Amino acid sequence: TSASAEAELTDGFHLVIDALKLNGIETIYGVPGIPITDLGRMCQAEGIRVVSFRHEQNAGNAAAIAGFLTKKPGICLTVSAPGFLNGLTALANATTNCFPMILISGSSEREIVDLQQGDYEEMDQLAIAKPLCKAAFRVLHAADIGIGVARAIRAAVSGRPGGVYLDLPAKLFSQVMDAEAGAKSLVKVIDAAPAQIPAPSAITRALDVLKSAKRPLIVLGKGAAYAQADETIRQFVETSGIPYVPMSMAKGLLPDTHPLSAGAARSTALKDSDVVLLIGARLNWLLSHGKGKTWGEPHSTKFIQIDIEPREMDSNVEIVAPIVGDIGSCVQALLDGLGKASWQGAPSDWTETLKSKKEANIAKMATKLGKNSTPMDFHSALSALRTVIKERPDAILVNEGANTLDLARGVIDMYQPRKRLDVGTWGVMGIGMGFAVAAAIETGKPVLAVEGDSAFGFSGMEVETICRYNLPVCIVIFNNNGIYRGTDTDPTGRDPGTTVFVPGSRYDKMMEAFGGVGVNVTTPDELKRAVDAAMDSGKPTLINAEIDPAAGSESGNIGSLNPQSVVKKK
Ligand code: ADP
Ligand code: MG
Repeated sequence: TSASAEAELTDGFHLVIDALKLNGIETIYGVPGIPITDLGRMCQAEGIRVVSFRHEQNAGNAAAIAGFLTKKPGICLTVSAPGFLNGLTALANATTNCFPMILISGSSEREIVDLQQGDYEEMDQLAIAKPLCKAAFRVLHAADIGIGVARAIRAAVSGRPGGVYLDLPAKLFSQVMDAEAGAKSLVKVIDAAPAQIPAPSAITRALDVLKSAKRPLIVLGKGAAYAQADETIRQFVETSGIPYVPMSMAKGLLPDTHPLSAGAARSTALKDSDVVLLIGARLNWLLSHGKGKTWGEPHSTKFIQIDIEPREMDSNVEIVAPIVGDIGSCVQALLDGLGKASWQGAPSDWTETLKSKKEANIAKMATKLGKNSTPMDFHSALSALRTVIKERPDAILVNEGANTLDLARGVIDMYQPRKRLDVGTWGVMGIGMGFAVAAAIETGKPVLAVEGDSAFGFSGMEVETICRYNLPVCIVIFNNNGIYRGTDTDPTGRDPGTTVFVPGSRYDKMMEAFGGVGVNVTTPDELKRAVDAAMDSGKPTLINAEIDPAAGSESGNIGSLNPQSVVKKK
C-alpha cells in the first residue's frame, strides 16, 4: 500500500534532524524563514529545543557562546542570503574567539545561483563563508547529510575550535531516500576532540625555563576556561606557587580572591615578570603582542606557551618553550614534571612584591567603590553589582560596552569558571543578548547582563526573546546617554552629537512592552535591590541605571587605538 511505502522513506528534513540528534545536539538557535521554517518546526516536534530570535546575529552569538560553555558545537540556523550574512558575523566572531559553532544555512538553488540568473535570495554562500570560518561544506544529496554533519562537528571542535559553515540548499530538504539506507548513512562522531598529548621533550624544556625564572608568571586565557581542566589548572598553580593573571573570560577559573591571583597587580606582573607561561591565551593586541612597555622592554620576557594550535607559536614574539597539545594534558604533564624537576616554588621576593602591589591597588579601588556619588558614576553602580556576584557566585555575568566593560572587568570579582562572558578577542559590541539567552538556556543559572547603553542597542530587540522564553535574565543598562559619554554636541548646531542618544531614555519600558519587569534606578542601593529581586524571582528584568552622562572616557581603556587627525582645518 502507499502508506507502507511512505513509512519506508525518509527525506532531507528528517535526515538533518536525525543526524543532529544522533550527535547529541539538543538546542538550535536561529531565525525562521524560507527555506528552513519547516526544519525548525520539525526539530521542535522531535524534541530539539529551538530558540527563535529576532535577528540572526544574536542567534549566532548565542550558538557561539553555547559552544564555549559546553565544548559541543553551538548550532545557528539561518535563511538564505541576508539571514546567512547576519549569522556570518557571529560565525566569524566565533572563529576569532576559538568557539565551536556551526552555522547551518538554507540557500537557493545551485543551478540558478551558479548561472547568476537571479534566484530568490541568490548568493554563493559557501564561497562567501569560506574565508571567514574554519571550514565550510555544502551537501547536495540527502545520502550525504550524515557525513556533512559529521564533518562539520569534527571541524568545529577538534584542534583549535572554531566556526564551521554548513550549506543546505532548499531542494535538499525534500529529497527522499529509503529510510533504512538513510539511517545507515548517519554518522555518530567518535571522539570528536581527541586529547592531544604534548611531547615529553616539550615539557622538560618548559620546566627548565620555568626553573630558571626569578619572576615567573602564569597568564590564563579563555582557552584554559574552555578546556574544562579546572582542577588540573588549580593544582598546577597551587603546587607551583606561581602567581597568575587571568584574561577577562578566564576570570573565576580560580577565584579572583585566590592568594596567587595577581589580577589586581596586572601591570606590574606583566611588566616585571621574566618568564611567562601562557595557558590558552594568545599574545595578540590584548597582551600588547608580547612586547613594548607593557612587558617592561628593554628587558626581554621569555614566553612558554601551551596551545593546541601549533601555528600560534612565534606568531608575535619568540616562544622559547612551545607546548603543543590540549590544555588538560599539557598542564597535567607539567604538574607531574614539577616533582621530578625538584621544583622549589616561585621566589618569595617576587610573590611578596606582587602581593603588596595588589593590596595597595585593592585598597585604592575600595575608596573609589565606597563613594556613593549622585548621580551614579560607573564605580558606584558597579560596587552594587560586585556585591551581587559575591553573594551569587554561580550567576553568569555577561558584559559589554566600553567603560561598562573595562570597569566591570576590574571591579567585579568572579569566583567560578566560565561565569564571565564578554566581548572577547575582537572587543565587539552586540554579543549581549545572544550570550545572555544561551547562558540561561545552556546552564539554567541566573544571568546578569551588564550593558552599556550603546552596546545594548546592537541586540536590544532580543528582550522580546528573553520574555518569550521566560528566561532568568536580568539586564542592567548603564545609561549615560551615549557612546562613551552622553555629552557630545554637533559643532554646527544642526544635529545631536554623533555619540549621544536621546537624553533620559527609559530602556526599562522596552521590557515592560513584552511583559517583563522594568525598573528605573538612580542609586546603588536601588540598583542592588532591583537586581536581587530579579535574581530571586527569575523573571526577565531590565534595570535602567541612570549614570552621569559626563562619566566615562573615550573608548574606555583603549582610547589610544583611535587615530588622531594631525591637520587643523583653517
Ligand atoms: P584570551 O583572549 O583569553 O587571551 P585567546 O582566545 O587569545 O584567549 O586564546 C585562547 C587560545 O586557547 C587559542 O589560541 C586556542 O587555540 C587555545 N585553545 C582553545 N582550546 C584549547 C584546548 N582545549 N587546549 C589547548 N589550547 C586551546
Ligand atoms: Mg553609554
